[in-house]
Amino acid sequence: MNMGILDGKVVLVTGAARGQGAAEAKVATEEGATVIVTDVLDEEGQATAKEIGGTYHRLDVSSGAAWRDVAAEVMTAHGRIDGLVNNAGIFKIDGALDHDEDTFRQVIDVNQFGVMHGIKTVSPIMVEQGSGSIVNISSIAGFRGMGALAYSTSKWAVRGMTKVAAKELAPLGVRINSVHPGLIDTDMLGQLGVPIDQMSEAIPMGRPADSMEVAHPVIFLLSDGASYITGTELVVDGGMII
Ligand code: NAD
Repeated sequence: MNMGILDGKVVLVTGAARGQGAAEAKVATEEGATVIVTDVLDEEGQATAKEIGGTYHRLDVSSGAAWRDVAAEVMTAHGRIDGLVNNAGIFKIDGALDHDEDTFRQVIDVNQFGVMHGIKTVSPIMVEQGSGSIVNISSIAGFRGMGALAYSTSKWAVRGMTKVAAKELAPLGVRINSVHPGLIDTDMLGQLGVPIDQMSEAIPMGRPADSMEVAHPVIFLLSDGASYITGTELVVDGGMII
């Protein structure tokens, strides 16, 4: 039997019903992890979990109470959490002159508070174990004034949060890194309303990423092969922000 880089590990992925989260859940499973698929899309989440042989739990990442419930269920079932991918996110088109407060808050609630709740809920479990790895999915919009106002704000925040948490958690055996995809071919890309050919012109590699091309680097960061990497920013963008 082949050895996987996540053999024996328990990994929770948020927003894993579809898109990049589903790809991360799939690769983690292939690499030997027991995977907890979480999302708010119950039907798609259950189908993804079934396909990979994992379990599905409903988890709205913007709710601290929901995080506590799911973490308790996972601890009862598996007794540990070795990897967390804070992947869930939403995108809304807005700008400096054209945004409304409710939509802004909604994006921050999911993309920023979601990651905060994930860190707050799962890192004490990892600290208790003396080991664990968290990967926060930001974006190249966390490097530039790019994307949209609330979205870019939230993705810069994820990058900052990761660094502060990395310093605090490193002496306690827990690593935490951010991953910054460029354009990935998922449902979210469709929301930009720009044809793929046109977007591809801005990418030196000339095409968006397949979600698997982001999933593999994420899974590497969860693995023991990344044991000396914490607080870093891994850009996966086909050369877009070189
Ligand atoms: P997607 O829309 O296909 O998937 C996002 C998933 O998050 C969905 O399954 C959705 O149901 C889930 N989700 C939304 N709100 C949630 C909530 N409150 N609680 C739990 N789950 C929730 O998009 P994707 O491209 O797979 O996005 C995954 C991550 O990658 C996001 O953080 C996104 O910001 C980031 N990202 C995407 C791109 C891109 O080009 N697609 C680029 C850079 C970063």
